[in-house]
Amino acid sequence: MPTVLITGVNRGLGLEFITQYAAAGWSVIGTCRDPSSASEAQAVVASAGNVTLYQLDVSEPEAVKALAETLKGTSIDVLILNAGLMAERTGLGTFNAEDFLQVLNVNVVAPAIFIQAFADHVAASERKIIVGMGSTLGSIAGNTSGGMYSYRSSKAGLHAIMRTASVDLRDKGVTAIAMHPGWVVTDMGGDGADIRTSESISGMMSVIDGLSISDSGRLLTYAGEELPW
Ligand code: NAP
Repeated sequence: MPTVLITGVNRGLGLEFITQYAAAGWSVIGTCRDPSSASEAQAVVASAGNVTLYQLDVSEPEAVKALAETLKGTSIDVLILNAGLMAERTGLGTFNAEDFLQVLNVNVVAPAIFIQAFADHVAASERKIIVGMGSTLGSIAGNTSGGMYSYRSSKAGLHAIMRTASVDLRDKGVTAIAMHPGWVVTDMGGDGADIRTSESISGMMSVIDGLSISDSGRLLTYAGEELPW
């Protein structure tokens, strides 16, 4: 049974990831900041039997390292760096350094620290895949609407990290990609988004399932289309 580790599973895309991977029979490891209040994720744990939840704030490097140590010896076939943040005030004339740095910390620094801590767990697995949850809003070539300074720059940074990891981990046979989940109805995406979490996640799982090392370093949508950097 392959193993998947997903960050930020108490709501939104992360919650749907653990739901669908558990239903597919995978061994599922989910992390969230407060498992005791993550009632929907706890319901998946209770009904599925193949899901384990760990408490983790991804912005705490020592906690990430400690989880990697706890899971030493566990092969992780697919690592999904999903936890992410969008600040409220991100337009020109509205943002401040503190919020900006928090977004960069969660969306850029934390995934890099995570890859550093878990590269060997992934390399020891059969499938050897790392997915960073990027965004079309992090596409520099595709930016024609402006705004969202911290979020856009954080996702562009995450894309760079996934591309860099794809180069650094190629010798270990690890496939590292960035993925845009679509514009999805979640707390972050809002009610007016294009698609539901079920469609986004089933699409991403299908893309992930079809990946090989020759895909490493790509930026793909949930439908498997290539996005411009
Ligand atoms: P969401 O509903 O706002 O969920 C965000 C998740 O990230 C929550 O589980 C949240 O946990 C977690 N998180 C935030 N900061 C964290 C931290 N310091 N430590 C641990 N967990 C933390 O957003 P979503 O739509 O599911 O987004 C998931 C990912 O997809 C994000 O990376 C987002 O940028 C990306 N994305 C989403 C869309 C979209 O349309 N929805 C589009 C492109 C990309 P708490 O509940 O504890 O805050």
